[in-house]
Amino acid sequence: MLLQFVQALYIVAGVLFILSLAGLSKPTTARVGNIAGMVGMGLALGATIVNSLYLSYEDPERRQSVLVTGLLIVVVLAIGAAIGTPIARKVEMTQMPELIAAFHSFVGMAAVLVGFNSYLAPEGQGGAVHLVEVALGVLIGAYTFTGSVVAYLKLSAKMKSAPLVLPGRNLLNLAGFAVFLGLTVWLLVMPPDAVGLGMVVVAAIAAIGFALGWHMVAAIGGGDMPVVVSMLNSYSGWAAAAAGFMLGNNLLIITGALVGSSGAILSYIMCRAMNRSFISVILGGFGTSEGTVATGGRDYGEHREISAEDTADLLVNARSVIITPGYGMAVAKAQYPVADLVSRLRARGVRVRFGVHPVAGRLPGHMNVLLAEAKVPYDIVLEMDEINDDFAETDVVLVIGANDTVNPAALEEPDSPIAGMPVLEVWHARQVIVFKRSMATGYAGVQNPLFFRPNTAMLFGDAKVQVEKIVAAIGASDAVPAGTR
Ligand code: NDP
Repeated sequence: MLLQFVQALYIVAGVLFILSLAGLSKPTTARVGNIAGMVGMGLALGATIVNSLYLSYEDPERRQSVLVTGLLIVVVLAIGAAIGTPIARKVEMTQMPELIAAFHSFVGMAAVLVGFNSYLAPEGQGGAVHLVEVALGVLIGAYTFTGSVVAYLKLSAKMKSAPLVLPGRNLLNLAGFAVFLGLTVWLLVMPPDAVGLGMVVVAAIAAIGFALGWHMVAAIGGGDMPVVVSMLNSYSGWAAAAAGFMLGNNLLIITGALVGSSGAILSYIMCRAMNRSFISVILGGFGTSEGTVATGGRDYGEHREISAEDTADLLVNARSVIITPGYGMAVAKAQYPVADLVSRLRARGVRVRFGVHPVAGRLPGHMNVLLAEAKVPYDIVLEMDEINDDFAETDVVLVIGANDTVNPAALEEPDSPIAGMPVLEVWHARQVIVFKRSMATGYAGVQNPLFFRPNTAMLFGDAKVQVEKIVAAIGASDAVPAGTR
């Protein structure tokens, strides 16, 4: 009876996770989606704890230890909460991608540990299906662990974002998979009582997974990291599903499959946005190929600078303005003054819209979250495809902390590491103002010829400070009585 109730709760939790995904697909319903996910996870956790305590109680050999099991669960939950709560409270929006990558690595390591545990568990030993589950679970888990660690190091700038290109890297990956297949077959044909040797083989599978994860993600260049983050998200889901098979836990299988397939769909969307091949992403063979060169050394000529006051002047005299935000807006936390600037310009009758690139920032939807946080109306926030044709009829474009996502080299220089990636074609506008602190490159490490175009002017400094100056200048001109202007 109790077990049936637990299964019913698992189904409810599964439905809540699906509703959560549906809710998270639109900014207006995202809050409800988040709540559905949290309630679902609460139910899932509660039901799992009750289930494991009940199973311990049912088993006469484990009955005496049911209290210890309960206590262990409470201690483990308390340790997790003590570590997770301060991290979640303190994390900056700009650090979210690296935090997510770090969390993916925990899912991977959990699947590896469950794999070892499940191999040793007496009830599973000997079955071919179970052994394949162990081999796959350990491989995917180990791959997800080191891949996510490398993604964490690259996203937090603790490791260079340039791709690691080992000679014959695709052959190395292929050899890794071939050895994995050989080890799995060995595990299957091994006598069931050779548990010690079996553990060595499972450890070797884990080592192959660790090496493949590290190598495949290290081989990916900075500009392609968004796809990697969503692929690792997907892999962490499959790792959880594999753990669900090993543990015989239906909810873990459902949840893992949901995360795995939604991550795969997101990766597909990101691949299309960046003009990359989905298949080559799965095979880890994408990123900067041996033939591409960084364009950092090319001479594009001189750049021109502009002041915040002159920018304010241009803006109040414009009829149409497009703002293209990027990672620098998140770093500067400039979204609030930007929202203030937008409402002032709109009050003066200027048509203002945002053009958001699918990989702007360091997280899918990063800019949309920041703009929603600053209460920018959703209907003026447009996606790249919706706005790219409008730049030619635009008076002023403000590029606020964006760089790679507005780089014309992606379309004009076939030897560029970001060649082929669709970008916001801001240079077609009458005037482009770029907000940044220096002439440094963006995340992909590629110089941006946009900065040297005759219709581009650089507004150097922290984006928040500069936008505040523009707002102040517009405010001062608003304060002057109409007749005296
Ligand atoms: P970029 O990372 O290309 O450039 C950001 C720019 O912001 C820099 O040139 C920097 O210049 C400027 N900047 C930083 N701090 C400030 C500040 N305080 N004030 C003003 N400017 C500042 O940004 P994009 O958003 O255009 O591109 C995103 C990049 O990140 C792409 O290459 C994408 O592939 C990658 N990426 C995206 C992920 C995603 O899911 N969205 C995940 C992982 C990577 P300066 O230092 O001179 O100020």
